[in-house]
Amino acid sequence: MSKTMINITKLTSDKIIIAGPCAAETREQVLESAKQAKKRGVKILRASLWKPRTEPGFDGVKEKGIEWLVEVAKMGLTPGTEVLNARNTKAVLTAIAKNVENPSALIWIGARNQNHDEQVAIVKAVKKYPWARFMFKNQPWRHEKHWRGILKHVLSTKIGKDKIFLSHRGFDPGTDEPRDPKELRNFPDYQMAMRVKTEEDVQMIIDPSHMGGTVDNVIRISKEAMRHKEAGTSFDGFIFEIHPNPTIAWTDAKQQLTWEQFDELMDEYQNLHKEPQVKTKSAQTQASF
Ligand code: PEP
Ligand code: MN
Repeated sequence: MSKTMINITKLTSDKIIIAGPCAAETREQVLESAKQAKKRGVKILRASLWKPRTEPGFDGVKEKGIEWLVEVAKMGLTPGTEVLNARNTKAVLTAIAKNVENPSALIWIGARNQNHDEQVAIVKAVKKYPWARFMFKNQPWRHEKHWRGILKHVLSTKIGKDKIFLSHRGFDPGTDEPRDPKELRNFPDYQMAMRVKTEEDVQMIIDPSHMGGTVDNVIRISKEAMRHKEAGTSFDGFIFEIHPNPTIAWTDAKQQLTWEQFDELMDEYQNLHKEPQVKTKSAQTQASF
């Protein structure tokens, strides 16, 4: 348990920090998460309404949760959700546009969604709202050309680089065999992530939750990633899965952190980043969330 709750307002003036549950489950769970995020100065709350799943099961509360995200936006936070298609995107963004005085939202595409027609349609829907931001993750398989290819599809819509960022969620180990629990769920390739960031001049955050798969691994990867620097550059931030009560989470229960575990990590990150970082051009123009 951390001694004190940390306020990361200083950190979020320089870094993108997204925190919140893997999936939106109930209105209470989403609003409690928003309250905890706001108290700490976290500006972007993840609470995914759609959940692509490997096997059939709970796959998100879907449209039912849109009004919860509207409530989060009314609290002055940026709600963030994965979407599966342009229809989902429009539903979320029109509701926020209609009901929130100072609207903001983050829409993202997960690792499994590799239909470029749909990717382009989603980005076009995001582009209609200047206050909306777009994030995409790397695809599950390790292939740099494919990852850069998604970026090409995204940029073919002429969305500004200042409106988008990438998330490195690691690459699939490529086996179904039972593995040692200490092994990662997905493997990072820090060099590739930094190369894509620098050469493409985009912002790059890291998702230790889906790399780790377990709380211990998530903490280990986070500590490693916050120290990772190459040629003066580093990750532009983190996306973390944080749940008010991880043991009863409906999805990814083993990897979700408590807010106290988040505090400890952010304390360390804030201390490591006392000095402002050298930024890419897109980061310099990125409107603050
Ligand atoms: C998630 O963000 O909960 C998720 C399913 O991640 P990914 O798309 O990286 O598998
Ligand atoms: Mn998840």
